Amino acid sequence: MTKILVIEDEVDIADLVALHLRRAGFEPVLAHDGITGLKLAQTEVPALILLDLMLPGMDGVRLFKELRRFPGTRTTPVIMLTARAQTEDRVAGLELGADDYVTKPFSPKELMLRIKVALKRAEPAGETTEALATGPFRFDLPAFVCYMDQLPLELTLTEYKLLLFLCERPETPCSRTDLLRGVWGYSDAANSRTLDTHVKRLRGKLGKHADSIETARNVGYVLRTSPRP
Ligand code: CA
Repeated sequence: MTKILVIEDEVDIADLVALHLRRAGFEPVLAHDGITGLKLAQTEVPALILLDLMLPGMDGVRLFKELRRFPGTRTTPVIMLTARAQTEDRVAGLELGADDYVTKPFSPKELMLRIKVALKRAEPAGETTEALATGPFRFDLPAFVCYMDQLPLELTLTEYKLLLFLCERPETPCSRTDLLRGVWGYSDAANSRTLDTHVKRLRGKLGKHADSIETARNVGYVLRTSPRP
């Protein structure tokens, strides 16, 4: 069975994640502090590590750096678990090379999906998708960079994820709920305005391709790859 190491000091969260991991056919290994987590990462050789950032003993960022120093865990995919307020930590984590992050509170279903994606991405080359191209946009997925007409766009992580989500489904109207869930990890009416704000900002960065993101009335948004008559 595929072992997943969960380093999380909040026991309730760790247990909940373990339950869902077992249901999804994984073997969870739990650590409630950083030092134990680091030790288990080396002895249990998990296929993936879920790493909470705020930990007693050794914080997530430091632990992550340690993981990357050891040959046995250097390439192990790591998904960081963060509280919503810790934006800086999250960005730091991704800059360090974490594979993904999930913001608390998260839906276990979403987390399982992210785990499967990260595991798939970690598979030996050949089957993995490293790039995605839609219309004028090309994504370098491991590097979190989007090129528009061959030039890199300066996007925030959220804008990047939003554009990627739409580009993965060209010509398909995406509902507001799907966009919120896919990009922010959760959906509730209160965040509806956040979505519009980000779309507006994103369009502003797309220059002559701003119209690629079309408003789908009463639905949400849709990415057009060719102008409509
Ligand atoms: Ca914590």
